[in-house]
Amino acid sequence: MDKEKLTEYNRKRNFDRTLEPEGISEMPRESLRFVVQHHLARRDHYDFRLEWDGTLLSWAVPKGPSYDTRDKRLAVHVEDHPLEYRNFEGTIPKGEYGGGVVMLWDEGYWEPHGDVAEGLGAGMLKFVLKGQRLKGKWALVRLKGKKDEKQENWLLLKEKDEHAAGSDGVSEFTTSIRTGRTMEEIEAGKEWTDGLVIQGIKISNPDKVIFTEPEITKGDVVRYYEKAAERMLPYLSRRVLSIVRCPKGISQTCFYKKHPGPGSKGIVTIPITHSEGKTEDYFYIENISGLIAEAQMGTLEFHTWGSRVDALEKPDLMVFDLDPDEGMELSHVRQGVRDLHSILTELSLNAYLKTSGGKGYHVVVPLKPTAAWEVFHDFARRVAEVMEQKWPDRYTSNVRKAKRKGKIFIDWIRNGRGATSIAPYSIRARKGARVSMPIAWAELDTLAPDSVTMAEALRRIEDKDPWDDFFRNHQQLT
Ligand code: MN
Repeated sequence: MDKEKLTEYNRKRNFDRTLEPEGISEMPRESLRFVVQHHLARRDHYDFRLEWDGTLLSWAVPKGPSYDTRDKRLAVHVEDHPLEYRNFEGTIPKGEYGGGVVMLWDEGYWEPHGDVAEGLGAGMLKFVLKGQRLKGKWALVRLKGKKDEKQENWLLLKEKDEHAAGSDGVSEFTTSIRTGRTMEEIEAGKEWTDGLVIQGIKISNPDKVIFTEPEITKGDVVRYYEKAAERMLPYLSRRVLSIVRCPKGISQTCFYKKHPGPGSKGIVTIPITHSEGKTEDYFYIENISGLIAEAQMGTLEFHTWGSRVDALEKPDLMVFDLDPDEGMELSHVRQGVRDLHSILTELSLNAYLKTSGGKGYHVVVPLKPTAAWEVFHDFARRVAEVMEQKWPDRYTSNVRKAKRKGKIFIDWIRNGRGATSIAPYSIRARKGARVSMPIAWAELDTLAPDSVTMAEALRRIEDKDPWDDFFRNHQQLT
């Protein structure tokens, strides 16, 4: 290995005084790691470090990275750091080089696009970040410098992709990705006692058993939501929620909650006026922090409104729940799903199928947010009534049990303003930790509505998304 690369790093530091690691080059591993450290030194900045050739290529980014593609963040190229530096979090003594507090702000893997050595020479490095907070396509571009300029100035840019956003998406994260500590806590030397930290959020009682047979702990639930987040958030974020919490496990008291508690990161309160004129506070989650914060508080089920908070009065998710009478054969329920699908197809509406995690299936129709609640709700009712008129011995659009003998209730009622339905990828607070799972139409006959467990859901999330074109639909009610 090339020891010279770290000469400057070692020269600047007195390792009898600082706890930073001494610079020794390491053999590179197969995947390339990256780390971002928030460093509150003489100047507040973020150190952006990419593993390459046994060391960490390093840039100091005063404003930190930004998910906004319009932002061009100055990134001052600094000396290579030893690979071991990716584990450094703590305080560098005052008066020493870089004296101040260092927090591990993000970590993960990076994949260069093209030849790295060439890119570094040409001053144009494109890559994909697979961190916990930084994801997607990014670029580092060198600025033309003046002669004799000591440090190279580069720009760190977010490239257009599905992760790009209209805000920096960075300043909301103020805790260590590894220890959950704030800058103040790191500075105070607060020890991190062996807990579980996910997305910088400390998870209390991670070993608490939430489900038995199979045994699933709170830590497992939080990790499930972390892994499901990327798939789940498009259906969950910025939608008013009601949730089911079982902080002591599903065998103990669980409770519904639709009004916010004290504020948490990523959870937003929204006042909503009811039709009778009364205004109450509701809440929604904005990002993965909100999802993890809810899971930390014991939330298992997420139920959402049919509209997003950006257009609260214009719903965009129509859900039909096929709710069979006690003991009905699964083949009849599946026929119900096919019949409903045929009606929607006749209406030229694309629909998607998911398991409910309970007795029935859910058929979901994505719509442009153009119609008002009343129109939306009436449309859903009419679909259920058509089912009932066409096959009166099989289906009912009437919720009353007495009228349901041996029939499937086509539940359209959840399409009203203020009603909610279980979000895709939500765990159900029932025996066996079933998931309301998006599936392909071709799987209707092979997957029972309660057959996808949390473990199976995790396997499926690694596969192709059966709803991958869900948001490419532009259909609307006319
Ligand atoms: Mn620094």
